[in-house]
Amino acid sequence: MSFEDVVELAKRRGFFWPSFSIYGGSSGFYDYGPLGTLLKDNIISIWKKSYAKEGAIFLDTPVIAPADVFKASGHLEKFSDIAVKCEKCKTAYKLENLLKSVGIDVPLNNVEKANAVLEEYDVKCPKCGAPLRGAYEFNLMFKVGTNELYLRPETAQGIFINFKNLYNYSRNTMPIIVCQVGKGFRNEISPRQALIRMREFTQAEVEVFYLNDSDFNPNGNSLKFKLLRNTGEEVTVDLKEALHSGIVKNPVMAYFLEKTYSILSSIGFNPNHLRAREHDPLERAHYSSETWDFEYLMDGEWIEIVGVSDRGTYDLGRHQQFSGENMEVDGNIPRVVEPSYGIDRIVLTILNDGYYIRDNGYKVLKLDPAVSPLHFAVFPLQRRDGLDAKAKELFNKIKQIDPFVYYDEGGNIGRRYARQDEIGTPFCITVDYETLEDSTVTIRERDSTKQVRENIEELLQKISDYPEYPTSLFKN
Ligand code: AMP
Repeated sequence: MSFEDVVELAKRRGFFWPSFSIYGGSSGFYDYGPLGTLLKDNIISIWKKSYAKEGAIFLDTPVIAPADVFKASGHLEKFSDIAVKCEKCKTAYKLENLLKSVGIDVPLNNVEKANAVLEEYDVKCPKCGAPLRGAYEFNLMFKVGTNELYLRPETAQGIFINFKNLYNYSRNTMPIIVCQVGKGFRNEISPRQALIRMREFTQAEVEVFYLNDSDFNPNGNSLKFKLLRNTGEEVTVDLKEALHSGIVKNPVMAYFLEKTYSILSSIGFNPNHLRAREHDPLERAHYSSETWDFEYLMDGEWIEIVGVSDRGTYDLGRHQQFSGENMEVDGNIPRVVEPSYGIDRIVLTILNDGYYIRDNGYKVLKLDPAVSPLHFAVFPLQRRDGLDAKAKELFNKIKQIDPFVYYDEGGNIGRRYARQDEIGTPFCITVDYETLEDSTVTIRERDSTKQVRENIEELLQKISDYPEYPTSLFKN
């Protein structure tokens, strides 16, 4: 399915839409609608629980921070993209993306190199055809008002500057895993592809502080998956093997790549559409010595959804140097591995991954029951003969156990199924004439469209086990 189809469905059915549209809009900002908000929360909840199982602790810090924080982190000096602006039509481009879109895949390490590439390939403005020249560095930080305050470009710094508090909280033990989910802001040169490149977006970041490499080791028991090395070689191995053969250098990195893969699987991604790609040294952020991006294949393009970076001692070292606060533990600055999840990108790509069209032309969102916004829909077969009253009664009972249930009596039953299929509701429950006789209902599963009959009391008893039940009813 193409990305445009997904965006069309998302807008129409209330997953997300461009912000401020009654005032003409502003590029790079999106509102989550009623269904998108639930989907996003479900994804965050899987992430949160998965790290809580690792013993992680959680934090919530301000989105605005003084310049001192970002002077120390290096963002004010180095957090920039190389841009080029068309002199004729004034359209600005992030050069790396523009070059990729015309098939030029060369690393741009500085403005001089960028200008040489523009000359050599005689790159033209895709909009008006004028030659593009004069690349420049464009800092992505948003300044707030006239004060020396900035919107954070990542949630991570709020965690680093709190290291001592977190260490004390952890009763002076290492390693420490700290998670924060919240908004990040980047003044992107050319926001695009809806939730893929936004100016305000949600990150779920994890900072793993450790002293010994051996604190974490991959289990090697997850599925093998695709690793694309920066040499261009692609291997399909498990993470234990990747570590032993030196493909992944740091055991902590290997452990959290494995963990990230398992979280993405729980969200429901098709593993064939995922890979982890190693950054080229020129591509890595200023703080990183090894980076692997989890990428999702959408419309033939690999999109980064999670970045896992080895930040080493960079951030704590810089904050120690700039603030004077001692960040050492046992005489050493702890090292850090950071898995950073782009929640909006995960929302968009999981929608893309689940979207398909049935033979009869109806659209379906095959979302994993663990993330689908609504879990059940209840229908009366007809709006008469007491079926509607019985269905409403069942709806109200289910709502007490699982509030993510929807009641619909409009249109024929086929249309009602189709409406739920399109938003990913895994199970529809129908009250029919048999219900009045024997208190059973049909449960219809979205993907197989199979139906089973179930006694209402048993159904109610087991609904609290969702998503295990009634998924289990449809397992072969
Ligand atoms: P980074 O710090 O650039 O590695 O970003 C971490 C994660 O945040 C990425 O893997 C993306 O999923 C997400 N992300 C970064 N920039 C944006 C953006 N402009 N809009 C939406 N998501 C983003």
